Amino acid sequence: MSDVLDLTCELIRRASVTPDDAGCQALIAARLERAGFAIEHLRFGDVDNLWATHGSGAPVFVFLGHTDVVPSGPAEAWSSPPFEPSIRSCDVPGRENPEAVGHDGTLHLYGRGAADMKSGVAAMVVALEDFVRGQPDHRGTVALLVTSDEEGMAIDGVRRVADLFRERGQRIDACVVGEPSSKARLGDLVRIGRRGSLTGRLRVEGVQGHVAYPDQADNPIHRIAPALAELVATRWDEGNAAFPPTSFQISNIEAGTGADNVIPGRLRVVCNFRFGTASTAQDLRERSEAILRRHGVRFSIDWHLSGEPFLTPDGPLRRAALAAIASHCGIEPEQSTGGGTSDGRFIAPLGAEVIELGLCNATIHKVDECVAIADLERLPALYAEVARRHLATA
Ligand SMILES: [Zn+2]
Repeated sequence: MSDVLDLTCELIRRASVTPDDAGCQALIAARLERAGFAIEHLRFGDVDNLWATHGSGAPVFVFLGHTDVVPSGPAEAWSSPPFEPSIRSCDVPGRENPEAVGHDGTLHLYGRGAADMKSGVAAMVVALEDFVRGQPDHRGTVALLVTSDEEGMAIDGVRRVADLFRERGQRIDACVVGEPSSKARLGDLVRIGRRGSLTGRLRVEGVQGHVAYPDQADNPIHRIAPALAELVATRWDEGNAAFPPTSFQISNIEAGTGADNVIPGRLRVVCNFRFGTASTAQDLRERSEAILRRHGVRFSIDWHLSGEPFLTPDGPLRRAALAAIASHCGIEPEQSTGGGTSDGRFIAPLGAEVIELGLCNATIHKVDECVAIADLERLPALYAEVARRHLATA
């Protein structure tokens, strides 16, 4: 069994359901310490974070990942127990999308975290060990940052570590997030940025009353309807070369007493913006509140910004990744800013170039999560080459 496969299996055996690390980081820290890394355990609340560095000074090249996993769901729905790694070729007929999930006869590793992202963490660890063994006196710093709070609240994980780095003046020049970014083949997609996400929780006040006496009531549904229509119809921006136009979606509306003769006294709306670098969160907040005021809506709104958008321009890290993918995978990847959020959003504001590059994501968070073993075994060399090329050119 290869080193990276063995380490991935060891990590899967530790049932680290978010935010529990279940000993994953101790295992990683022991290995990296043996390889000459300086180890720092950063525990905030219930969350374990591990910061391991080798070398000193700039440029600082970081691999970022998480040891926590989402719950397995009912274990009996799995073909093998979710926290016991299982290696087999799967040929179960009748599954949807057989190629993507690997029902093509090739060997796969099954278990919770097999794709998201204990395999990626194991590959980053092995890549770092190999890298410092080959280049003990490398330029700059290579490092690993892992958290046990990516799948959960994401408050005491990388967000807190980034605050600490800001206080300490710890710079990061380049960050490869080992999340499963690929679609059908290893290396077919690299993420070069992410949209921001801004959620608004709106409360509209009215006056409850009898539907037959509307002059004695104030209907919040009638107040909000034209304002919502305008919010939905608004073109917030045109997007730009890297991002599509900002999208606005209403996810929840709630009002009414259930009786058909009562005008409700209040109404709630939840809405979300996904936005690129053509708009700012502040701009979107102000413009939407101005629309509500113009329609005479009596409201209060709580905003939650779960991440600013970021974009890594064409530079040393993107070039290092493309060259490494070309030589190890023989393909030219799609460079995308799509998808949801990741912990890269907390590292990018430190001034780092951030990309996400990893295994296929077809089965993440699903029952019978799995990864192709051939892909897993190619990943450490791919990661090590990104680091080597970046440190040689940055
Ligand atoms: Zn993940």
